Amino acid sequence: MEFVNRFSNELPELCHQQQPTPLKDPELVAYSQAAAELIGLDSEFMQGELALGLSAGKLLIEGMQPASTVYAGHQFGGYSPQLGDGRALLLGETVNEQGEYWELQLKGSGLTPFSRQGDGKAVLRSSIREFLASEAMAALGIATTRALSLTVGSGLVQRERFEKEAMLLRMAPSHIRFGHFEYLYYQQQTQPLKRLVDFCLSHYFSDCLTAENPVLAMLEQVVDSTALMIAKWQAEGFCHGVMNTDNMSILGLTIDYGPYGFLDDYNPRHVCNHSDHYGRYAFNQQPAVGLWNLQRLAQALSDYVPSAKTEPLWIRYQQKINQHYQQLMLNKLGLSQWQDDDEQLLGLLLKVIAEQKADYHQSLRALAQDQNQLTKQLPDVWQAWLKLYRQRCQQSDVDEQQRISGIQQHVPLYVLRNYLAQQAIEQAEDGSYAQLRQLHQVLNTPFTEQVDAQHFAAPPPAWGKCLEISCSS
Ligand code: AMP
Ligand code: MG
Repeated sequence: MEFVNRFSNELPELCHQQQPTPLKDPELVAYSQAAAELIGLDSEFMQGELALGLSAGKLLIEGMQPASTVYAGHQFGGYSPQLGDGRALLLGETVNEQGEYWELQLKGSGLTPFSRQGDGKAVLRSSIREFLASEAMAALGIATTRALSLTVGSGLVQRERFEKEAMLLRMAPSHIRFGHFEYLYYQQQTQPLKRLVDFCLSHYFSDCLTAENPVLAMLEQVVDSTALMIAKWQAEGFCHGVMNTDNMSILGLTIDYGPYGFLDDYNPRHVCNHSDHYGRYAFNQQPAVGLWNLQRLAQALSDYVPSAKTEPLWIRYQQKINQHYQQLMLNKLGLSQWQDDDEQLLGLLLKVIAEQKADYHQSLRALAQDQNQLTKQLPDVWQAWLKLYRQRCQQSDVDEQQRISGIQQHVPLYVLRNYLAQQAIEQAEDGSYAQLRQLHQVLNTPFTEQVDAQHFAAPPPAWGKCLEISCSS
């Protein structure tokens, strides 16, 4: 494997080169073969000594130039002038057979100049949550950073209690965040900001270079990819929990899995982050926060794009997110062409599910039954809606088999619910990784029924609905 280091070579003022602090007595907890394949690695490699050493910060592959990077960001609405990789290192970039660049980033790799009050560590619990979520999101077709491997060490670190330390080796075409731009903009580092812009244009947005205003064209693409990502979050019931601008990717990837949660019962006002006292990042706020965050990015690029030019982008964002969301939800109903009345059909459905405090995913998946069975099995409050739905299917001459298979292909049977992650965590903390590995496998093909996996399709027991997940990780 060969490595290059375009980010640290071309943007030295954003980087601090340093070595990882290795894990003591590392043990491989899990790895993702799907992620490994993206960079041409097989399972033999992933289970070998080199992969373990790399995943534990013990050794590097020739050509890697590890560095932490500095960024800033708007956190819960307020500007924090200096954040940065407080516990992660960019190790280097590899190029796969298709010529695609993938950065490897090691999270939990020790203190950096940007650690502030933190210890530079990651714990097993939160690393498991990031590992599972990254790969589950990818399997749902949502753009995300990937998780290559998860490694635990023998050391303990203090959070609310003492917990095992761990490292996550993650991958993305780029880990550049809105916050990288904000840092340079508010520091008035004009030349480095220009180089960051040029870096993005030449490496990730080269089709924008010929536009009249390349930076505006790039911003438009960021608007589009962010709108698509958030529309998918809304359709899949994913709540990020910490949508600060330092957690927003320039490539529209879901990044930094902390106190995230998939909905169980459908509550549009659900707040998954226990530390988010005002519900700024509530589930139904995500589209609006995405817009606000994009506007912060536009501010950081205002030397290149005058604000009058950005106005149409915000309208575009709203349109894109609505269009994507409508199409995604229509697919979940086993339908294909959006019609005007569908707004009402969808709105009523969500209202019924919310009022019933019913499980979001199971309610939708239940629609993949024979129409006659459906009417019998769903409670009375559903009947009015089902009547509308039946009419809609009849009007459009929807084939019953296609309707059913459409739903089965678009509503996952297996969802990464907090309680499932929690069970896997508790077992892993006791040294048993079987449940974690099985859950990871099941979530790899979330739409397809799998043998011996019925328990992963169950909605949460009472204890599993009120798990409190905070930022502390
Ligand atoms: P996050 O909430 O994970 O997005 O982190 C916000 C900021 O805090 C980032 O700059 C992180 O690098 C930093 N941070 C979070 N946890 C730690 C830690 N244990 N040690 C050092 N820095 C941390
Ligand atoms: Mg972060």
